Amino acid sequence: MKYYSTNGKAPIADLNKAVVKGLAEDRGLYMPERINKLPKEFFNNIEQMNFQEIAYTVACAFFGEDVDLDALLDIVNDTLSFDCPVTKVKDNIYTLELFHGPTLAFKDVGARFMARLLQYFLRHGSVDRNDIATNETVNVLVATSGDTGSAVANGFLGVDGIHVYVLYPKGKVSPIQECQFTTLGKNITAIEVDGVFDDCQALVKSAFMDQELNQHMKLTSANSINVARFLPQAFYYFNAYARIKALGEADNLVMCVPSGNFGNICSALFGHAMGLPVKRFIAANNANDIFYKYLQTGKYEPKASVQTLANAMDVGDPSNFARIINLYSENNQLTPEATHHRITNLISGSTYSDEQIKETMRQCYKETGYILDPHGACGYQALVDGLQPGEVGVFCETAHPAKFKEKVDDILGIDVEIPARLRAFMEGQKQSVQMTKDFNDFKQYLLKQ
Ligand SMILES: *Cc1c(COP(=O)(O)O)cnc(C)c1O
Repeated sequence: MKYYSTNGKAPIADLNKAVVKGLAEDRGLYMPERINKLPKEFFNNIEQMNFQEIAYTVACAFFGEDVDLDALLDIVNDTLSFDCPVTKVKDNIYTLELFHGPTLAFKDVGARFMARLLQYFLRHGSVDRNDIATNETVNVLVATSGDTGSAVANGFLGVDGIHVYVLYPKGKVSPIQECQFTTLGKNITAIEVDGVFDDCQALVKSAFMDQELNQHMKLTSANSINVARFLPQAFYYFNAYARIKALGEADNLVMCVPSGNFGNICSALFGHAMGLPVKRFIAANNANDIFYKYLQTGKYEPKASVQTLANAMDVGDPSNFARIINLYSENNQLTPEATHHRITNLISGSTYSDEQIKETMRQCYKETGYILDPHGACGYQALVDGLQPGEVGVFCETAHPAKFKEKVDDILGIDVEIPARLRAFMEGQKQSVQMTKDFNDFKQYLLKQ
């Protein structure tokens, strides 16, 4: 499979290059040149397959031309060592719990898959040997407001040939999240930046653009711009469809995804393009409503993010927006108006303030006993507000409520139990490197590594 850039000015890449580079030379995002449809028989029998079997079929459609099939099976099974159950919350609303992975984040799947795929290419090389010199360490830079850092750090932990630098804003991630990437050691370095998330992001972006640094070391990104990180998230949606189909409820299915950088929903949309029979999608936003506004007006106007209770969705310029436009404009063949029309036919949006998020959490808990986290709350409420008669809705619960324990306890007046897996992280010793938000300091640090 070949990959092209959404900006259309970079050379076509193979999968190896797309994974190692992350971003194309023209700063665009890589897109597969084809999206393989899955056969009818697959969907006819999908409810008899388990998560791993479904994921392997989907993985073969994406990556089967470029990765040895036995190795791919191994990568899929290693990535999906957990379940992601679909359970009824009330009436026609189901929750798809994406938080049963190693760090209790939905990003665990993409992070682990990417780590294993990168390792595969480091070991086997590819047609284009120029992209990776054997024995050269690949350095993954990742900026995080919480969840990405922990998922990536744990996904890459102990994977040889790869070193991970996690940049996070000092004092602005929850204590539980912080210990999930600062206590690991080995090939994981946590960098505590005296600034906000946008400063971390800016440091990473500047590093990728700095020639001297790129000559010194091989840098890549593990944010959802990377095809190996966002595409595997489609596994979730095929599996959710299968589980709902087994209940006989899949005919008018609406999938609702709490969205920040739009990687997760983008993978669901790729699933739809592969034939996944979902009627329509809802992108649920917090107060950062750039996509919502785009749906209303057809204009995309990125702005600085605002801090909310659902902080993993505090994104003012969602990177995967470019992929969504590219997908529905058929690589810029359609006009912006026609593209907008296609998008609004399939995807609707909603946006919630912190007050509304709190109210939703309280109302849902009182009515159903289900504990929503602030991100999932946006998804749940979007279904409550938007489902039409005859539709069945599934929303992604993207984080375990214990990851936002202080907030959830405070809002609901309860004491959320911390799962053992999370507790284990909290017992480790924090190690981090202090950093200013000045790029030159960060650069000097990396040049010494
Ligand atoms: C990352 C994240 C999101 C947003 O996902 P995107 O793929 O960036 O849209 C939502 N909720 C939680 C808990 C997350 O960690």
